[in-house]
Amino acid sequence: MVGENFFSLREEMVKNQIVARGIKDQRVIRAFLKVPRHIFVLEKDLPQAYNDHPLPIGEGQTISQPYMVALMTECLRLKGGERVLEIGTGSGYQTAILAELAGEVYSIERFPSLGEKAGMLLAKLGYKNISIKVGDGTLGWEEFSPYDRIIVTASSPEIPSPLITQLKEGGYLVIPLGESFSQVLTVVEKFGDKIKRQEICGCVFVPLIGRYGWQSDD
Ligand code: SAH
Repeated sequence: MVGENFFSLREEMVKNQIVARGIKDQRVIRAFLKVPRHIFVLEKDLPQAYNDHPLPIGEGQTISQPYMVALMTECLRLKGGERVLEIGTGSGYQTAILAELAGEVYSIERFPSLGEKAGMLLAKLGYKNISIKVGDGTLGWEEFSPYDRIIVTASSPEIPSPLITQLKEGGYLVIPLGESFSQVLTVVEKFGDKIKRQEICGCVFVPLIGRYGWQSDD
């Protein structure tokens, strides 16, 4: 059966790519076993949906490597019930993982085609705690702020200042920071008007394009 086949591919992915590399949060592991990653890839890439690498999703963007999604999620230290802001909806896969682990998820995507497709898929999967909007995520989403957690799934030269403003006291923000072709996954914690940064590992993400990220070429 096709469905069972995907479940066993998902189990393999979790065991060999996620648990074997040190992800320990049991809630994160359960979410990865549950969310059907193959729904979020292009049909031509179905056989590769559970492979150990990113895949194209259109508009020159990618669905991130499973391990990177897991690592960023674990860095958020979600216990359940949090209000989370995600910048870079892309395929919606990370959004679904967040919706499994937090209270409400607000996600912003720059490309209308990607945001609309992700919104349809997530609704079809039955998620009721996700709101998606199309726009420049470097400005945050003030209406529902402050957020307990913020995750940026595209790379930026610096932390967009509106995101620091919209993060709650004691909240965490996860973001790849650095040059266009190589960055450092960074966890930012906010205390009053100060922030503390912790560098996790090197990574490569597509650019965050917007007012407080990289400038667009067009
Ligand atoms: N988590 C997604 C990652 C997609 S790649 C997934 O695994 O599918 C990063 C996404 O960020 C791309 O879809 C890109 O279009 C989007 N992006 C880039 N700059 C943005 C911005 N300023 N605001 C919102 N989304 C942005």
